[in-house]
Formats: sequence, C-alpha cells, structure tokens
Amino acid sequence: SPSQGYYTHRGGIGESGDFITSPEISQVFGELIGIWYISEWMAMGKPSTFQLVELGPGRGTLTEDILRVFKQLASVLSKCDVSVHLVEVSPKLSEIQAAMLTGGKVQPNPEDESAYMKGISKTGIPIFWYRDIQDVPSGYSFYLAHEFFDALPIHKFQRTEKGWREVLVDIDPEVPDKLRFVLSPSRTPATQNFIQAEETRDHVEVCPEAGVIVQRLASRIEKDGGAALVADYGHNGTKTDTFRGFRNHKLHDVLSAPGTADLTADVDFSYLRKMAQGKTATLGPIKQREFLKNMGIDLRLQVLLQNSGDTATREQLLHSYDMLMNPEKMGDCFNFFALLPHHRLLHPDKKDKAESKSPLPPVAGFNELLLK
Ligand code: SAH
Repeated sequence: SPSQGYYTHRGGIGESGDFITSPEISQVFGELIGIWYISEWMAMGKPSTFQLVELGPGRGTLTEDILRVFKQLASVLSKCDVSVHLVEVSPKLSEIQAAMLTGGKVQPNPEDESAYMKGISKTGIPIFWYRDIQDVPSGYSFYLAHEFFDALPIHKFQRTEKGWREVLVDIDPEVPDKLRFVLSPSRTPATQNFIQAEETRDHVEVCPEAGVIVQRLASRIEKDGGAALVADYGHNGTKTDTFRGFRNHKLHDVLSAPGTADLTADVDFSYLRKMAQGKTATLGPIKQREFLKNMGIDLRLQVLLQNSGDTATREQLLHSYDMLMNPEKMGDCFNFFALLPHHRLLHPDKKDKAESKSPLPPVAGFNELLLK
C-alpha cells in the first residue's frame, strides 16, 4: 500500500527496528559481495562501463560496503565508468540511503532523468533512485537483490479434495476489526494461472511480482550483459507455509495491525529459475555459509582480527561471523542464486575450436574465489 504499507510507512531495519539483515550485522558481508562483482567484471573481460543496480537497498549499508571495496580497488577499476542505480519504493528509506551514501547531497526530481532523485557518492560515483526496475536505463549492469524478493506480496494456495483453492483474507464476522484467513469457495484466476502443472506440494506460496522482475532481469542481462546476484532466505521448491511477520525482532501475527510489521515469505528459487525462461544461465541456490566461505570470509576475518587492538571489537567480529555462518543462525537458511549470460558458463571444450582464448574462471562464491 502506498500510504499504509510497511515499507512506505515504517520499514524498521536494524537493531532498533523490526528485523536485522546481514549487511547490518557485518561489513564483511558487503565487502565480499563487492569482490564478487569485481571478480565477475574481470572474468567478463573488464567492460569499460557498468551500472550497479540494487533492488530494495534498505538503509544503503550494502551499497556503502561495496563502494568502499570499489574505492580500495580503484587501481583495478580505474578505467571503468561505474554508476549506482537504486530501486526503492520507500520515501523514508531512500532518504536514509541518500544520507548514508552521499552525506545528504542529493537533487530531488532531476528533470533530465527517469530517476526521482540523484546524487554523488562520498567516493565520487553518481547514484540514481527509481521506483521500478523498468525505469533504470539499459546497459551493462550488475544487479543485486538482498532480502528483496521475500518482501514482495505472495498468493497462497491450498490443495483440497475439490482441487486447488486460494487462501484469502476476510473480515472476521464474529470479532470486529479482526482479520482471518478463508479458503476461496471455488477456483480463482490466480489458482488457474500460478500453480505449476507438476506441483506436488499441498500448500504453495507464489510471488508473481518476483517472477516478473526475474523475467526483466534475465531479458536485460541477455540483451546488455552483466549478472544478477540474489540472496535471500528461501528454498528450492520444497517449503510450504512460510508466510510470517516480524515486529521489534519478534514473530508477529501477519493479520494483526496491518502495516506495522515486516511481512515475509521464503523465496522459492525453483520458481525464480523457471521465470528466467532460459534467457540466462542460473547458478544456485547455494547456502550462505558455503558462498561466503568460497568468497574467502575466513581469511578476511583473520585480517580484521589481527588489525583490531581491543577485545570488544574482536568479540564483535567473532559474534557477527557466527551470525552469518552458523547453520543454526543465518548460514543455512539464507541462499545465494545468480543469473549469468549463457556464454559465462560455457565449458571450454564446447567452444569453437578456432577460438584460442583461455577458459573463463569459475564463478566465485559458487566455486572458490580465484583472483589473480
Ligand atoms: N537489502 C536491504 C533491505 C532489505 S528490506 C538489506 O538487506 O538490509 C526490503 C527492501 O526492499 C526495503 O528497502 C524496501 O523498502 C524495499 N522494497 C519493498 N518492496 C519494494 C518494491 N516493490 N519495489 C522496490 N523496493 C521495494
């Protein structure tokens, strides 16, 4: 809802808010993602320009950490023209992002652009804000969606003796101001369109908006090149009833006080893969702890521990590492998934023999990072 929706209205990410995300827990998370983009940029032959496009950037912390890596590796990126494009619907969060990334130096409603706001990052990179991925200019782009797809609305379906029925929200006739779930008495248009013929589960959650966005990402990557990295809690087409709410870091009844709690449903990566429609190759989902291990999180932790003099900082580093990596915490339930142009994954043997180029390195994160 543009007026009463959680993100347009509240959107409390961080310790003082309703839920906490990996980039808010440790700077190492965003740094390793920054390295992922540089590693892919190098593997794809160092194109002279790229756009970093983040969907749902929250407080802007992840982009901030990535831009710090880009600055540290400025000598590698020196000849590349980089710009940042943020897709954000929340007026409140876009203000927080602008303060974090530009120090508040932004221009609202620039006349010459499709963006609703623009500015320059503290590291000198142009940043643009949009409400929809379709407004982002075309061009070679690296996309990022961290805890974005889980925030989009879902349809819920229940298999019954009479076939699939949609789970709908109704006003409880017994208790005033109370909502309840009901099953549709007959099939709805959504039941007919969103359930896959081969579905074996009894209860399914489908996020058509995520499907549309993945189709757009896949078309753009197929046409203009680049890659997309999606990280979220989710599953590979196995889970059923995952819809839940969070308020003040506690589980919250999804139907009570709408608009005041973060509503979320696990991302079905098998559905995202299907929605790429073969326009790009896909990798994953792979568990967060495996992805971060492949990206060299252990080495990065050691360096930070060696460089930190005080016990409190060291304890904080170890605590945040445990949050990200422990299978009981975020290590197993969060997954990484990527869309890449088909030629990026071509096996060297299958290439034209006349082409004598050396084989492309494996995609980092999904394999061990090999940076020369
Ligand atoms: N990536 C951040 C924030 C995740 S919360 C992090 O990991 O910390 C979800 C983000 O998506 C918020 O920034 C929210 O405002 C944004 N968002 C939610 N629905 C959206 C939509 N339909 N289009 C664009 N952004 C959206």
